[in-house]
Amino acid sequence: MRRVCPADDGKTIDLSRYREVLSMDTYAAKRVPEYFGSMVFNENVMKEQLPKDVYKALKKTVDEGSAIDPAIANVVANAMKDWAISKGATHFTHWFQPMTGITAEKHDSFISPEGSCGVIMEFSGKELIKGEPDASSFPSGGLRATFEARGYTAWDPTSYAFIKDNTLCIPTAFCSYTGEGLDKKIPLLRSMDAISKQACRVLRLFGKDVRRVNTTVGAEQEYFLINKEDYAKRKDLIFTGRTLFGAMAPKGQEMEDHYFGSIRPRVKAFMEELDDELWKLGVLSKTEHNEAAPCQHEMAPIFETTNIATDHNQLTMEVMKRVADRHGFVCLLHEKPFQGINGSGKHNNWSLSTDRGENLLEPGSTPHSNAQFLLFLTAVIKGVDEYQDLLRISAASAGNDHRLGAAEAPPAIISMFVGDELEAILDSLVRGTDYTDVEKTMMNIGVSALPPIPKDTTDRNRTSPFAFTGNKFEFRMPGSSFNIACTNFILNTAVAESLRQFADELEAAANFDTALAALVQRELKDHRHIIFNGNGYSDEWQEAAAQRGLLNLRTTPDALKHYTDDKNVKLFARHGICTATEVQSRAEILLEEYAKTINIEALTMLEMLSRQILPACVEYSNKIAGGVAVKKSIGIEAPAEMEMAREMTVLIGELYERRAALQKAMDAVPEKTDVQSYAEYYRDHVIGAMEAARAVTDRLETMIGEKDWPMPTYGKMLFYV
Ligand code: ADP
Ligand code: MG
Repeated sequence: MRRVCPADDGKTIDLSRYREVLSMDTYAAKRVPEYFGSMVFNENVMKEQLPKDVYKALKKTVDEGSAIDPAIANVVANAMKDWAISKGATHFTHWFQPMTGITAEKHDSFISPEGSCGVIMEFSGKELIKGEPDASSFPSGGLRATFEARGYTAWDPTSYAFIKDNTLCIPTAFCSYTGEGLDKKIPLLRSMDAISKQACRVLRLFGKDVRRVNTTVGAEQEYFLINKEDYAKRKDLIFTGRTLFGAMAPKGQEMEDHYFGSIRPRVKAFMEELDDELWKLGVLSKTEHNEAAPCQHEMAPIFETTNIATDHNQLTMEVMKRVADRHGFVCLLHEKPFQGINGSGKHNNWSLSTDRGENLLEPGSTPHSNAQFLLFLTAVIKGVDEYQDLLRISAASAGNDHRLGAAEAPPAIISMFVGDELEAILDSLVRGTDYTDVEKTMMNIGVSALPPIPKDTTDRNRTSPFAFTGNKFEFRMPGSSFNIACTNFILNTAVAESLRQFADELEAAANFDTALAALVQRELKDHRHIIFNGNGYSDEWQEAAAQRGLLNLRTTPDALKHYTDDKNVKLFARHGICTATEVQSRAEILLEEYAKTINIEALTMLEMLSRQILPACVEYSNKIAGGVAVKKSIGIEAPAEMEMAREMTVLIGELYERRAALQKAMDAVPEKTDVQSYAEYYRDHVIGAMEAARAVTDRLETMIGEKDWPMPTYGKMLFYV
C-alpha cells in the first residue's frame, strides 16, 4: 500500500520512496498536534462543551480568582463528566499535593443508583468544588488535632482537569477545616498573587497598567533508568530509592561519553512513549537527552505559569515511572541513587512575565526598559541574598544532602552567577558617584551606556546554584524528586518582598528617576557579595564565601533550623503566604521526613547486612577455607587461598562490628520530643555508622566471586545493553 501524507503545498509525497532514510516512526507520521492535550479539559474543550455564558463566567472566576457560583459549577461538572466518559473515564478524583511531596488521589466512580437495579453516571458541582478526603494520615506537623482529622480539597480552576488511568483528575488545594494549608499548592498560589501585586505596583511607576504578573517556570527533570530485574534484586533500591552499598564499577562517567551521547534504542523507545503520554496530558515536553552519568537522562519542558508547571512536573515524574515499567525499566528519581557518579537534580528556570507577555528579566533595548530590567534584576538579587536560608531550605532533604557540594552539583552555599558583562555593568553602577541631575542619573542606570547582554553564552557557569541565563534565572539546587512548589513559593515571596520595598520607596519619591538610581545603586552595593561568577565547586569558594559572610548550611537539619527565624516568619505573614504556625508545621514535617528517611535506610542496611551480605561473605570464605583444608589433606599447600580466606575473615569481623555499631546507634535513637534534635541525632550518629558499614562491604564485594554476591553490582546495573 502506498502511504501518503499531505505536503505543505497541498500535493502528496510518496513516503515509501524514502523508506531507507526515514525511521519507521517518521514513516508513520505522527500527528502530534492532533493528540496534544487530548486528555485535558482545556480552554478549547471548555469552549466546545460549555454554554457560552457558563464559559465566560468560569473564565472570569479563573482570571479574577473569585469564588465560583454553585449553579455554574454544576454545569461545568456535568460537561466535564460527559467529556471524561467519552474518553473512557469511569472515575474521578481530587488530585492534590500533600506535604509528602507526591500527589495524592482517592478515586470515586461516577455511578449513582437509578431505579431498582440500574446506575447512571453523575458528577455534581459540589463534588467538583470540594472533596473531603480522610486526611488523618497525611503529615500535618501538628496542625490538625486528631479529633478533627478531616481536611478538605478545593478545586483549583487555574489548572486544567485531565484524564489519567480512566480517571478524571481535578487539580485541588488541600487544607484543614480551619483554613491552614496542608499542601504544597496553597502557599504557591498565594505567593503568585503576592508577587503579582508588588510587580504591578512597580510597573505602574514605569507607566504600565498591568493587571497580572505571573512567574514562569521550566523545570528540567533528571532521572535514571535501570533494568527492572536488577531493581527487584536490590532491597536498598526497593525500600530507599538509592543503593546503600556498591563498589564502583571499573568505569564511571570519567570518559564523558554519556552526556548528550547517542541514546540506547530501548531508552529511545521509552522517551518516545514518555513524550506521547505527556503530550496527551498537555505537558510541553520538549527536550530529551542523556545526562552525565551512565543511565542518567533528562527531560526539559517548555516553560509555563508556575502552578501549571508544578502540576505538570508532578505528572511528569509519575508518568516517567509508569512508562518505564512498560519498557522493563525502573525510573529512579532519587537525588543520589549511586555513589561515585552524578546524582539527579531539577533545574528550576524562573522568570516573571506580564499578562501582555513581557518578560521582565529580558534586558531591554531602550533606556526606559533598561532601567526597568535593572530594577527587577536588583529585586531578585536582593531577595536571593536576604533569603539564602529559605532557598537552601527549599532544596533540603536527606537525599539531596548527598548531592549538594559533591562536585557535581552546587554546594550548599547560595550565590548568583550573572556573567561577566552584567557583572561589569552592576559594578559600574555600584561605583557610580552621586548624580544629581536627572539626565546623568539616567546615564548612570544604564541608558545608552548599557551594552547588549549576550544571551545564554556557551561558557556560562554550570557550577552556580543560581545563574542568570539571559532572560531568566536557573536555580539548580532542587533535588530530582522534589515538588517544585516549595522552591517557587519561597522564591516568589522573597522577590515580592524586594518589590514591595522598592514600590514603597519609589511611590513616595519626589523624583522617580533620581530615587530609582539611588535605590539600585544602594541595593546592589548591599547585596554585591551574593554575586559570584567563579567555580562554585572549588574548595577556595567555600573559604571565600565564608569571608563574604554567605551562609553555608551543609545539612538539612542545619538549614531547617532557620525556617522559623523571625525574619522568615515575618516575610510569610506580611505577604499572606503562611502563618507562624504553618511555617512551624512545615519545618517539623521536613525534619521528620529527614529522620524517617535515614531511619528506613539504616534498617534496610541492617537487614541486608544480616540476611544477605554477611551470609554471602561467610559462605564464600568458608568455601575457600574448605578448599584449603581439602588440598592440605592431600598434601598440597595453598598459601594464596589461605591468605584470601584470612583477609576475608578479618574483613567479615570488621563488618560484623560495624553492623553492631549501627545497630547500637539505632537502639539509642532518642524520643522524638524535639524534632530538631531528633533529626540531628540521625545526622550525627546514624549516617556515620552507615558510611562505615558500607566502606567495608564495598571492599568485600570486590573480593567475592560475581556469582556469589547476593545482588547486582554497579557495573551490571549501569552498563546494560
Ligand atoms: P538549558 O541549556 O539549561 O537546557 P534552555 O534555554 O534550553 O537551557 O532552557 C531550559 C529551560 O528554561 C526550559 O525548560 C525552558 O522552557 C525554560 N525557560 C526558557 N525561558 C523561560 C522563562 N522566561 N521562564 C521560565 N523558564 C524559561
Ligand atoms: Mg539547565
